[in-house]
Amino acid sequence: MPLISCWYVMTALRVAKMLSDQAFMRYNRQIMLPEIGEEGQQQLGQAQVLLVGAGGLGSPAALYLAGAGVGNLIIADDDEVDSSNLQRQVIYRDSHQGQSKVQAAAEQIKALNPHIRVRPVQARLAGQRLTMEVALADVVLDCSDNLTTRHAVNQACFNAKKPLISGASIRWQGQLMAFDFRQGHGPCYHCLFPWQPETPQEPQNCSNSGVAGPVVGMMGTMQALETIKVITGAGEVAFGSLQQFDGLTMAWQKFNLAKDKRCPVCGTGE
Ligand SMILES: [Zn+2]
Repeated sequence: MPLISCWYVMTALRVAKMLSDQAFMRYNRQIMLPEIGEEGQQQLGQAQVLLVGAGGLGSPAALYLAGAGVGNLIIADDDEVDSSNLQRQVIYRDSHQGQSKVQAAAEQIKALNPHIRVRPVQARLAGQRLTMEVALADVVLDCSDNLTTRHAVNQACFNAKKPLISGASIRWQGQLMAFDFRQGHGPCYHCLFPWQPETPQEPQNCSNSGVAGPVVGMMGTMQALETIKVITGAGEVAFGSLQQFDGLTMAWQKFNLAKDKRCPVCGTGE
């Protein structure tokens, strides 16, 4: 049977139509995956995902989540597109230089998938606003580039019992961490990276140490993958672990994280 009529028959034979024929066709390559199916696609369409940061991690994460049909994307960043971003922040075009990152990202997301909602938040999320945005989200992606935001996002996700998928990258190294605060146990970001507010900002970042574009892109892509799995329940999300990738050797290392009982965020704080 020719492919086109095969799809015609498959669409016509769907017993319980959860999705429109248009959505069924658009997402059929992932609906074919038994771990997702029409039910998973519907869950993706109803989900709200918060991306904190629209840089090298947020770019591929937002594009893949938009492509997958995640129905509500909230993307927060206070920065503007600079020529030095274009080496790795693949959601932007040369013509976006000088524009608000979240406005440009929202434009690109809508161009890719006009069937989803995207809400740009032009701010470095903190305090009440961060608390509110985390409360509204089903899953939070930390795609930020500074320790202050990372710890604030960790605290907000712990308080609101939201799953947190955190990515990081510098030079040739990438890190992926996932924390499940829904059940109220397991480690948090602070257990792994203890930090005090008076600690000076991290001495190393992309602007003073450099970063390989594909490595940060891989981490953002994996954040999107884990998010799709959290929403649909597919497979096993690597919660409570740190996965580290070395782009120079292509080696992966996985570490199971232990909860720090005295952690001021998720432990006793003593
Ligand atoms: Zn902790």
